[in-house]
Amino acid sequence: MKKYIKNSILSFFIGCAFLCNSQVSYAQESEMSQKTPTSFDEWKAEFRLHALSEGVNESFLDKILPQMQLLPKVIESDKKQPELRLTFWDYTDKVFSEKRLKEGRKMMKEHADLLKKAEQKYHVPTKYITAFWGLETSYGTYKGNINTLNALTTLAYDKRRRTFFTKELVAFLKIMHQEKLTDVKGSWAGAFGHFQFMPTTFTAYAVDGDGDGKRDVINSLPDAIESAANYLSQIGWDDSVKWGREVKITRPLNWDEFNENTIWPIREWKKRGIIPANGMEWPSSFEFVPARLVLPMGIEGPAFLAYKNYDITMNWNRSNLYALAVGLLSDALILGDYHIYTPRKNMPFSYEQAKEMQELLIQKGYYTGEVDGILGREARKAIRAYQKDNKLPQDGYATEELLNKMRGI
Ligand code: CA
Repeated sequence: MKKYIKNSILSFFIGCAFLCNSQVSYAQESEMSQKTPTSFDEWKAEFRLHALSEGVNESFLDKILPQMQLLPKVIESDKKQPELRLTFWDYTDKVFSEKRLKEGRKMMKEHADLLKKAEQKYHVPTKYITAFWGLETSYGTYKGNINTLNALTTLAYDKRRRTFFTKELVAFLKIMHQEKLTDVKGSWAGAFGHFQFMPTTFTAYAVDGDGDGKRDVINSLPDAIESAANYLSQIGWDDSVKWGREVKITRPLNWDEFNENTIWPIREWKKRGIIPANGMEWPSSFEFVPARLVLPMGIEGPAFLAYKNYDITMNWNRSNLYALAVGLLSDALILGDYHIYTPRKNMPFSYEQAKEMQELLIQKGYYTGEVDGILGREARKAIRAYQKDNKLPQDGYATEELLNKMRGI
């Protein structure tokens, strides 16, 4: 039970990151969502016409429509916000349990043939595929137990992201029909299988790894593993470089010349005193590798130089903590151990504090966005501008110390 809770918390945060990604579509919600809410039956009638126009098989649709139900707990999960923002240390504590590492090494050995085959075919190294697998479902142990059809139905009926989830629901109905799937279970957000694919991801990237003529990312491990490798390969995985590495900043940086999006070859970072965290020299072959500086807890926390595959991971899940976890877990699976060189200094910062900071930034004229406790791109930009004017390192990271300074304490 305890294990289950722990994992569901982690899945929740991973799910959060996924939904942040999907929030992109908020602004693009079309006329369908603008209409006044209808009863579930009216919605079903409207959805039926839409699904038919999108090419869902009519007799299949008419068989499945009466089975589609609303799950109130899906809306609750979707609306629920965690009380505390997870810091890098909180997140990695959850991800790097001894069990996840041990299981991962065991699974990598047990399924070495499958993973090797996928690696050769799609050029995504075994350790990365295993790391994604471990983060998504603890290597297939927790694939979710919510009826996917009903989860997607509920989110497509709910007004907030109707366009996004209607598209996913239509894709899922086509998958159910084509692959003859029944009773699929997954996350409350509609992701399913060993790698928690959304239906449109399945449509675009799932492959038949075991050659039985079906694509089954839930019950067939060869299908699931090759589908994940194919997905990563299609979105640009480059096996000539790694994901990135922990680094050490050995002297003060000139924050005016770069920001979180600046990509420079490693030799430029090296010129500015950034070295591998283990204190070794940069190998000469790395000099021209493009990299950006990632500071998940600001200048006082661990620092990383992230390469191209880090951004590919961000395409899978738009969360820096998730992308770092994939990279670090992939290394730990090989080394058998997980180690961060930067001394641990946790700096929790609550949603309430984040809201207060947003309000203070508005008062001081740095910020014009929402006061929602989520420090997104605009809020981080505002923090950096405030830090610049106050001659502080411009890491854009919110801490209690910074909040006190803004409060004038
Ligand atoms: Ca298959």
